[in-house]
Amino acid sequence: MSGDDATTEGRAGSVSLTPEQQEFQTYVRRWLGENAPPPPPERLPITPLEVMTTGQRDYLQAWQHRCHDAGLVGADYPTAYGGGGHEGFQRIANLEMGRARVPFLINIVGLNMAAPTILAHGTEAQKQKFIPGCLSGDEIWCQGFSEPGAGSDMANQQTSAVRDADDWIVNGHKVWTSLGHFAKWMILIARTSKDHKYDGLTYFLCPIEGHPGVTVRPLVKITGESGFNEVLFEDVRVPDAYRLDEVGKGWTVAMTTLTYERGAAESAGGGGGDGPHPTQRLIDLARETWRDGVRAADDPVTRDAIVQRAIVAEGIRQNGRRARVPALCDHPMRLPLQQKLASSEFVQHNARLGVDIAGARSTLYKLDDRAPDGGHWPLAYMNSYGHTIAAGTNEIQRNILGERVLGLPKSK
Ligand SMILES: Cc1cc2nc3c(=O)[nH]c(=O)nc-3n(C[C@H](O)[C@H](O)[C@H](O)COP(=O)(O)OP(=O)(O)OC[C@H]3O[C@@H](n4cnc5c(N)ncnc54)[C@H](O)[C@@H]3O)c2cc1C
Repeated sequence: MSGDDATTEGRAGSVSLTPEQQEFQTYVRRWLGENAPPPPPERLPITPLEVMTTGQRDYLQAWQHRCHDAGLVGADYPTAYGGGGHEGFQRIANLEMGRARVPFLINIVGLNMAAPTILAHGTEAQKQKFIPGCLSGDEIWCQGFSEPGAGSDMANQQTSAVRDADDWIVNGHKVWTSLGHFAKWMILIARTSKDHKYDGLTYFLCPIEGHPGVTVRPLVKITGESGFNEVLFEDVRVPDAYRLDEVGKGWTVAMTTLTYERGAAESAGGGGGDGPHPTQRLIDLARETWRDGVRAADDPVTRDAIVQRAIVAEGIRQNGRRARVPALCDHPMRLPLQQKLASSEFVQHNARLGVDIAGARSTLYKLDDRAPDGGHWPLAYMNSYGHTIAAGTNEIQRNILGERVLGLPKSK
């Protein structure tokens, strides 16, 4: 299916379009065709999680702002909060942005986590204050859930928030905070009671940039990039007006965020498209790589390995289609969690195959002119390991599938 007619199709499967949606699709294609972004001033990273320099940030923020102005971001959100007010339009915009291979939208936490959580749990004032900046990208968000002792055991939060008149005083230490170095706001879980593990947590929308008592320190990844950070809080004042939902409801609100982060619910904010076929880049690499006088693309073992990747890609795509049929979704978490597992492992296996195809030349890093495909593959390979850790490790997703979906006994 090409997606040219009354359907749109991506990795998530095909859907029929209404006449209004077809008209929107035509508009988005035309707009993207006429408004290609200028070349970036410097090389962009593979994902928003590795944006490091102000040059990259300014370029990507300007791009998201333009896309939002044109109606390509937040298309499903109510107009009162800076959205387009048209249900079902964002998926179309995402797909077309992916097809056009335009740069990613930088505000990944704002779009895919903060905005949908605020929409679900926020007061009217909070929705009006915070959601527009998430969609336009003018206000970058980060996520302050993980701590040195609270990753998989997320409820073990030690960062405390103590009430003081109209404020809360926050003290603690968050870690692995992607985009924290550019964030204006953080979605933050903090402990407001030591008497209850889960009901002792409260969710805040916390100012970060330039806020007294907040220290952001970059952490360097194996790739040499420093996309994530540790964030220290020392007597940080957060107004009670920035508390999301009730005191003690932080766990429930965080589950809403995780549902969007793990892809179990579709965020209407945009933030990524399906792109060209996921094996195309491998095929291009195999066509350009010669070994012992033979093109890698003519080597039967390499061809077979790429076909295996294409088969998995098709399985993921079909799973996406199944997830859209309510009668096939016996448990709301089954297919989305399966998708998270399959997609994250798919990214890893693809990257490993890319490195295998490039062979010894895959040791050439991105700054080396002789590196195949601009040094994409070693970078992708090293970064791919984060995919099975971020948003909850795959071991934890398997536990959830086993215990909550299949009804197996609890692991502890
Ligand atoms: C690229 C990237 C970006 C990230 N960005 C953010 C961010 O912006 N904000 C944020 O808050 N966090 C972020 N994280 C952190 C991420 O959510 C945590 O790394 C993740 O939840 C795991 O926690 P941990 O690192 O403390 O590992 P641990 O919880 O210490 O786990 C260590 C190992 O033990 C396994 N394990 C633990 N418990 C169990 C169990 N019960 N059963 C089986 N196996 C188990 C895990 O699967 C893992 O293999 C990011 C992580 C990555 C990799």
